[in-house]
Amino acid sequence: MGWQTELKEIYRELEEDLSKLAPECKARGLCCHFEDFGHVLFASSLEADYLRRKAGPPKVPIKKEVCPYLVDNLCTAREHRTLGCRVFFCQKDWLSTSQDLYETYYRRIKQLARKYPLEWRYAPLVELLREGDIEERANPSEKPYSTCHSEGAKSA
Ligand code: SF4
Repeated sequence: MGWQTELKEIYRELEEDLSKLAPECKARGLCCHFEDFGHVLFASSLEADYLRRKAGPPKVPIKKEVCPYLVDNLCTAREHRTLGCRVFFCQKDWLSTSQDLYETYYRRIKQLARKYPLEWRYAPLVELLREGDIEERANPSEKPYSTCHSEGAKSA
């Protein structure tokens, strides 16, 4: 089983846990407008690679204000979205559950990076998306994106 299959399984188990808890999401896309919402979505390099490989590179310029996979206020990468996307809900009493789930699954994803082993970096998702995937980082001349970087902050 490769790392991508294992990550998919980790996400599947997380979705199973979430379906039992059933937090409410009205799919308004507010939390994907990072700047307006006042937060930054952090992710691991492993997850950013997975997202780019499965959903394809973003089709719009990558900016720190909004996720490039958000189109018409809908996530175009829903099946492959990161841990931070999956556990974040606006529901008022959700924060501590969200943090517990995040820590549990974050540890599992980090173990996956150690197992294969894969590069591990934890940074704002938009920064990781700008850097391209593992192969592109090894061969920067093929990098298709802008190389400018934004400052980081705390994640959802
Ligand atoms: S990947 Fe999807 S859910 Fe996650 S921030 Fe981007 S648009 Fe939102």
